[in-house]
Amino acid sequence: MNIRAILMRISLTKICSVHIHLKRVIEMSKQKVRGIVIEASNKGENDRWLTILCKDIGKISVKSRGCRKPSSKLFGCSALFSYCDFVVDDHLQFYQLISGDPLARFFVGCDDIRKLALANYFADMANKMMKHGQEDNEFMYFLLKALQALDKNVNDIRTIGYIFELRSLVILGFMPYMDNCIGCSDPHIEYFSPEGMLCPNCAKSEDVQLTPEAYLAIVEICMEPVESLFKLKYKSAVKKILSQCAKVMMYYYMHTCFGTYNVTNYIDWY
Ligand SMILES: [Zn+2]
Repeated sequence: MNIRAILMRISLTKICSVHIHLKRVIEMSKQKVRGIVIEASNKGENDRWLTILCKDIGKISVKSRGCRKPSSKLFGCSALFSYCDFVVDDHLQFYQLISGDPLARFFVGCDDIRKLALANYFADMANKMMKHGQEDNEFMYFLLKALQALDKNVNDIRTIGYIFELRSLVILGFMPYMDNCIGCSDPHIEYFSPEGMLCPNCAKSEDVQLTPEAYLAIVEICMEPVESLFKLKYKSAVKKILSQCAKVMMYYYMHTCFGTYNVTNYIDWY
C-alpha cells in the first residue's frame, strides 16, 4: 500500500469517527418530555416557536421546523393545547422538536368562540405565571384539568373561568386567609380581600361583600381536590360574587390585565 492510500485510509477513519461521535452527541441530546403547548407563534414560511409546559422540567421554548406544512409529522403536535409525549433535541443550544405522541386533544373542530377565548386566556396565564426552569407539576395537572373541563362542558364556562383564576393563585401560594378577619381577628367575616377575609369594620370600599354561601364557595374552591374542582356548581348570585373576588385577586397579584382576559370580557357568558 502506497503512502497516499495510507493517508486516505487514515482520513476516512477520522471522518467516520467524527461522524459516529456527532451521532452519539445528537442521540445523547435527545430527550423525552411530557407537556402541553401553551404558546405557538408562527415563524418564517413553515416554522413555529412553541412554549411547552413540561412535567418535571417546567416551561421550555421549542422550535418546530416545517410543522405548518400539512404533510409534516409535527403538524398536529405543534398546535396550541397539544398534550403529548414530545421528543426534543437540545444539541444546538435550543430545543428542537423531533416528534410528538399525542396523549389528549382538546377543542378539535370546536367553533365555540367563548370556549376558545377562555382556553387561550388559561394558556396565556399559565405562560405568564410559570417562569423558565420553574417546575410545577401541580399547576400543569391543574391546567390540563381546566382544559378538559372546558372541552367536555362539565360546567358553565364562566364558572370554569373564575375557578381557574382563584385556584391558580392558590397553587402559586396566594391562599387568602379565611379563618377570621385579617385586620382584627374578629370571627365575624363579611368581606373578601385578596389577602383574606375582613369584618365590616376593617373592610375598605374596594373589598367584595360576601354572603355566607359565597364564603363557603371560596373555601371550597381553595380546598377541593382538582379532580372534582371544575364540577362545583353555584347559584347565580354566588357566581357574581365569585367572579368579582377572582377579578380582585387577579389584579392584586398579577399586577396586569391580560390581553386575552380583555377578549373574554366582551363575551356574553350566560
Ligand atoms: Zn376586622
